[in-house]
Amino acid sequence: MAIRILVLEGDGIGPEITAATLAVLRAADRKFSLGLTFESAAIGWASHKAVGTTFPDAIEQKAKAADGVLLGPISHNDYPPREQGGLNPSGELRKRLDLYANIRPARSRAGFPPRCGASVDLVIVRENTEGFYADRSMHVGPGELMPTPDLALAIRKITRQGSTRIAEAAFKLALQRRKKVTCVHKANVLRVSDGLYLECTRAVAARYPQVAYEERIIDAMAALLIRDASPFDVIVTTNMYGDILSDEASEISGSLGLAASLNAGAEHAVAQAQHGSAPDIAGKNIANPASLIGSAAMLLAWLGERRADDKLTRAANAIEAALDRVIASPDGRTRDMGGTLGTDAFAKRVAEAISSSTSPFQGEGTEGCVPE
Ligand code: NAD
Repeated sequence: MAIRILVLEGDGIGPEITAATLAVLRAADRKFSLGLTFESAAIGWASHKAVGTTFPDAIEQKAKAADGVLLGPISHNDYPPREQGGLNPSGELRKRLDLYANIRPARSRAGFPPRCGASVDLVIVRENTEGFYADRSMHVGPGELMPTPDLALAIRKITRQGSTRIAEAAFKLALQRRKKVTCVHKANVLRVSDGLYLECTRAVAARYPQVAYEERIIDAMAALLIRDASPFDVIVTTNMYGDILSDEASEISGSLGLAASLNAGAEHAVAQAQHGSAPDIAGKNIANPASLIGSAAMLLAWLGERRADDKLTRAANAIEAALDRVIASPDGRTRDMGGTLGTDAFAKRVAEAISSSTSPFQGEGTEGCVPE
């Protein structure tokens, strides 16, 4: 049966890293006979120029009808206001498809030293539909308002249901990994909102006695990661803390260009790099596509789990193993990793590593990086 992937390439480096990721997915498709089919649709500036909005409603229907979505980064900081068609496609998909868990791994690669400290192998489980993000915290209207020209207010949404389900996702993931969860919060100051979040996480922790549980305050956590990120396994946190900490963790692991992620809900999943559209390097064929390639591998692993299809799981592991193999060699790296390879040349190496591999790819790579 065909597996339909909706491809939304986005802005900035989006088209380059999406093309690179598709080259790798096609190699995996040939190797493992996955039956992948791809449909592309315009979002972001390309769509705004064509139809006056960065996120046409039809995209929601296409995303719901697809088996998975590959989403490139978008330049939403430059978009016009919502009333002039400037919707954040990433936020819209997370909200409309209820993609409540943003799974963001940061892992050092063999032969490629981390940016600081010891090796890192952790996953940040970030709540993805609530928090301070103005475009997704309200049913109608944005979660920001300006009662006078000199007063701006932002509403932060924390719910019992949202906090409980993200904690559940984190503990389930920890069972597949080193069985440790660190809850990151700021309940010492945000006593009501982070207090509710913490209360819910503690209640879930009590149901998983086999998982070690600890709590850290967000500001100290930012320092602890830089000091030594190696003790951390699964980190669960609210939307904005998770957004920030995950960029930090990926950079510690070697580069933001390695930062893969999956937005997952009960029914849908969207593969999306952690980083933005990197306008400073767009159009130069120098961006590192490993982030989106790794995200695509996470999507295949999620589909493999859902469909109990071993071929998809092995394909996901093969992509991760190929990334490891290519990056292990100093001449297999893009510029952000200290190498000279271009975006397309890097993808070609990864695709070749998949095609030429003879490993069965069982139990490697993406294991412990996607929610069940
Ligand atoms: P950014 O993540 O785009 O870039 C930060 C730095 O990392 C830059 O130096 C960039 O060159 C580098 N970088 C990022 N990805 C890289 C890659 N794959 N390979 C090599 N280097 C890479 O952050 P920014 O510059 O603050 O934001 C640019 C735009 O992206 C803004 O419009 C912002 O709103 C948007 N943004 C989008 C997303 C998303 O699509 N999910 C996330 C964050 C920011």
